[in-house]
Amino acid sequence: MSSTPFLPFSRPTIDEAAIAEVVACLRSGWLTTGPRVERFEAMLRDYFNAPHALTCTSATAGLLMALLSLDLQPGDEVITSPMTFAATLNTIVLAGGVPRLAEVERGTYNLDPERVAAAITPRTRAILPVHFAGLPVDCERLHELARARGLRVIEDVAHAIGAVYRGKKLGSFGDTQVFSFHPNKNITTGEGGCVVTRDEAMVKRIQLLRFHGIDKDAFPEQKQRGLPHYDIALAGHKFNMLDMQAALGIHQLPRLEAINQRRRELAQRYYAAFQGFPGLILPATPAYPHTHSWHLFAPLVNPEGARVTRDELMARLKQAQIGAGLHYQAAHLGSFYQKQFGYRRGDFPNAEFISDHVLSLPLFPDLAEADQDRVIAAVKRILAA
Ligand SMILES: *Cc1c(COP(=O)(O)O)cnc(C)c1O
Repeated sequence: MSSTPFLPFSRPTIDEAAIAEVVACLRSGWLTTGPRVERFEAMLRDYFNAPHALTCTSATAGLLMALLSLDLQPGDEVITSPMTFAATLNTIVLAGGVPRLAEVERGTYNLDPERVAAAITPRTRAILPVHFAGLPVDCERLHELARARGLRVIEDVAHAIGAVYRGKKLGSFGDTQVFSFHPNKNITTGEGGCVVTRDEAMVKRIQLLRFHGIDKDAFPEQKQRGLPHYDIALAGHKFNMLDMQAALGIHQLPRLEAINQRRRELAQRYYAAFQGFPGLILPATPAYPHTHSWHLFAPLVNPEGARVTRDELMARLKQAQIGAGLHYQAAHLGSFYQKQFGYRRGDFPNAEFISDHVLSLPLFPDLAEADQDRVIAAVKRILAA
């Protein structure tokens, strides 16, 4: 075997300024939530042109807090996609709701708005779309549906920071958006997330939920005298972002456009290389104006044109020192969701087809073109009939 180093499917790009900021944070003596979180939140508000950007420990925490703010009652439903990470459905359940799945489009892997419309029941409280791989869902259609029925729209934007829908950045319009800063995502704080919302009541709830339910504004008289009195207004969580994490974010956010631009160029190189190659089915492009954030390049292995299965391809790529991701096994195939909510294989054929054939090829800003060419050559060699 050669000594080719292992090529991961994703790798963060951390610059020296970010490293220096973390070191400065450590030297400052203030590690937990403080001035750097404040600065990062101000940058996020500015970036999204939004009144509130509430950082937290992860997108999972953000989704949970946004959903808890809805005060779901037993039996209340939240419509979401089976083509997503576990966190999207789990947080609906943890917030007391029922995840009501709707079928996705075979080409884009995004929720099919017509299937969302058909999934609405009298118990529906919210729609939770996922912008898969960084491709914006048809926001207008989903927001229209929600408006007509008085539903909330909580968007899972874990893949799509910087993506644009009809000229508007995701997060700069709509109801509530949850972003992830996990190391695999387009920008990172190590772990971390944020909730962008235009709902003042949700802001207050999340501020309580993310730090023990503590309300420091409950006793204005004492506060004015500089006293530390607080109320415990609810049984909260411990989901506050650290200054050590925000130190990274402060230097990642200004680089986002450049990072996404490079991701876009590399995705275009994949498209060009695989155009007309029968072994793969490439992700489809919707007609509405949008800019993709290319969190993932996730084609399908074409069962009609490939010599081996997706699983075999992934195993052989690994032997060739190439990492690939599986995003995702359709959520309704998970044993918990089958037992608890009665989902079965067969319920969502498009999601299942994607689940059975999808893989994420290496895509990150520092991916060398020579390494990408090695991936392309390996995929073609393994799949070619
Ligand atoms: C990564 C991811 C999450 C969870 O993000 P964390 O910050 O790791 O909690 C949620 N939804 C989707 C679609 C994701 O890819």
